[in-house]
Amino acid sequence: MTLNRLELDFFRNYLHAEAAFSPGVNVILGENAQGKTNLLEAVAYLSGAGSHRARYDRELIQFGVDHAFLKGEVFSRERNFVLEAKLHRGARRDLFSNGVRLKRSAELGEVFNTILFCPEDLSLIRSGAAERRGFLDDAICQLRPKYAAAVAEYRKLYEEKTRILRDWEEKPSLLDTLDDFNLRMAQVGAVIIRYRAHFVRRLAQMTPPIQADFSGGRETLSLRYETVSTVTDPEAGSKDILEELLQHQQSHRQAELDARQCLSGPHKDDLVVEIDGKSAKQYASQGQTRTAALSLKLACRELFREDTGEWPVLLLDDVLSELDTRRQSFVLERIDGGQVFISCCEEDKGIPNSGKRFLVKDGKLG
Ligand code: ATP
Ligand code: MG
Repeated sequence: MTLNRLELDFFRNYLHAEAAFSPGVNVILGENAQGKTNLLEAVAYLSGAGSHRARYDRELIQFGVDHAFLKGEVFSRERNFVLEAKLHRGARRDLFSNGVRLKRSAELGEVFNTILFCPEDLSLIRSGAAERRGFLDDAICQLRPKYAAAVAEYRKLYEEKTRILRDWEEKPSLLDTLDDFNLRMAQVGAVIIRYRAHFVRRLAQMTPPIQADFSGGRETLSLRYETVSTVTDPEAGSKDILEELLQHQQSHRQAELDARQCLSGPHKDDLVVEIDGKSAKQYASQGQTRTAALSLKLACRELFREDTGEWPVLLLDDVLSELDTRRQSFVLERIDGGQVFISCCEEDKGIPNSGKRFLVKDGKLG
């Protein structure tokens, strides 16, 4: 799939921008703070109405303005699509595909997929479990709209339950609804766990060969999905998982009331990464950490391809310059195939010579 054209109005520091892209490599050049990341963020937004660095849509709207528009012409599934997003300060966004309003943002993922790799991801391995859950969620949401719906519902339930646990001592009547929340959270949690387990199983097959290639065969990487301790088989039927989740909730009920926090459920899941049998989070060197993070993202890209039959669009934000020459050429060889956007500062070494070049200057694209 490719993004052939993009039009932005009042998105971040772009007053108005439009560009036609190459189906191969697109190099986005520019000095610091000119709008390179903003551009990649806009492209990524069209694949799921989310951003890797903004929690709320309003952050994406230009300062002092109330609306922002994004329009992308995408070629996918052998057809042309026009994807549009209209963001409003203080109101819900509107999303359209070929003029038809989309009910859910996950529907964008049925047409357009992106994998973004940015400097922060280089620490994906070292950071806390939340980062790795975010990585899993972002990928699975693009591929499975039902998963996206489950994650959204779980988030709401989690917030409600957290409120109950926080305030129950002052307002004991809140506890009347706790069992209902627990049951629904366990039901939705079971769905989430199955999707994650299935995805990680495939990712665990896809990533090690890439890491091995990357490290010249010296390193063996393995991945493992870690969820609620009572769950014996995370790929089992939802009913079995549900029982096990309820069991875990039951045994943690008092602890949750005491701690005034949700302690039981897949919101604590992790993706355990090991290199040569040792926890990468604790023991990996800087180089190993980078290699593993990159391998994970590239594996994800290949998994998308396996699933949809098309390469997702790869967005490499400022990461090439952070890699040594060997890793740079590894990445550039490995990504041969689909469409890629690579942002770099002009003075960077290792900017690919091929591809279409764009210069970003003060929110203008040339
Ligand atoms: P670097 O090389 O440092 O990563 P960049 O080109 O990637 O720079 P961006 O992150 O794209 O820079 O940001 C460009 C500018 O956009 C920044 O100066 C930032 O303050 C500005 N900006 C961010 N959000 C908004 C917004 N909502 N409205 C207007 N400007 C914004
Ligand atoms: Mg940037």
